[in-house]
Amino acid sequence: ESKRQHQASVVFYERGMDDEFTQLMDMEPVLRRAFQDDEFLLYLQPQFDFDHQQLCGFEALIRWQHPERGLLAPAEFLPYIEQLGLSETLDTWVLDKAANILTRWTAEFNHCWPIAVNLSAQQFQHFQLIEQLQSLVQKHNITPASLELEITETVAMSDLHNGMSVINKLRNLGFNVAIDDFGTGHSSLAYLRSLPISKIKIDRSFVRELQINRTDATILKAMIRLAHGLGKRVIAEGIETEDQQTILQQLGCDMMQGYFYAPPMRVELAEQLIEAELNEGRKPLPGSLAAA
Ligand code: C2E
Ligand code: MG
Ligand code: MG
Ligand code: MG
Repeated sequence: ESKRQHQASVVFYERGMDDEFTQLMDMEPVLRRAFQDDEFLLYLQPQFDFDHQQLCGFEALIRWQHPERGLLAPAEFLPYIEQLGLSETLDTWVLDKAANILTRWTAEFNHCWPIAVNLSAQQFQHFQLIEQLQSLVQKHNITPASLELEITETVAMSDLHNGMSVINKLRNLGFNVAIDDFGTGHSSLAYLRSLPISKIKIDRSFVRELQINRTDATILKAMIRLAHGLGKRVIAEGIETEDQQTILQQLGCDMMQGYFYAPPMRVELAEQLIEAELNEGRKPLPGSLAAA
């Protein structure tokens, strides 16, 4: 009886593996075609400054406009991209797109809101990353400081020696580096001191339970104080309610990003937001963009 159960589970397991593999192989030409046919979209999510209550930048977030399945979020296709070794192709596409937008904004608005781009582990560890970024800023004639590079805590810490050297080079060239999903990795806060980063992004998991979980508030308070002590700015992601905003502001958080202010949006919408700020001097009120 138990042996039969065992056999059954082995068969099931193998078939599961096969399906997964087949699925991955099926995805390869589809994803390559998606790059060729330009099916990816860069969405931008606004970031706001607590002190000045104003727009202070954007995060670039990829979407896939699938011909049959509609608009897909990263969780639905990034795992395939990673497993198929296409992360560099994707990151290069995103960087190029972001640089294009920055050039256009500088020409149109005579001002440039920084765009933060998420770097995959593969891209961050790529031996030609520095050269690639250097030629990108030259080609598009943008200031390196307008491009912020988000690296997750786990990636930054996975090879601390190499990571530190890459981040140092990026800083020396004028790029801003932010540590994404901060607090979810296993790094010691002391490591933060040695990393020449400009910003930490507090992970949404801390923000989510802020109202009910006092421990999270205590941890956050310590994190923010430490970051400030080291001269780094702090942004919180995933703010959905006014209460979360209030608590984060009290804890000394510098910047915020979340559905409470605005969701990730198409570039044209982000530009309307910029125009509203510029032309009417209208400050985007928290919550007023939630439906955009
Ligand atoms: P992330 O870099 O931590 O991005 C923040 C995620 O939180 C985004 O999900 C964003 O849409 C979502 N978010 C923002 N505000 C709120 C909120 O108030 N509530 C909730 N529930 N979520 C909020 P998204 O766009 O699905 O991206 C997921 C992850 O995929 C990103 O996490 C990032 O790790 C990765 N990713 C996205 N775009 C890119 C890209 O262009 N390149 C690379 N390499 N990775 C990307
Ligand atoms: Mg990010
Ligand atoms: Mg994040
Ligand atoms: Mg996150």
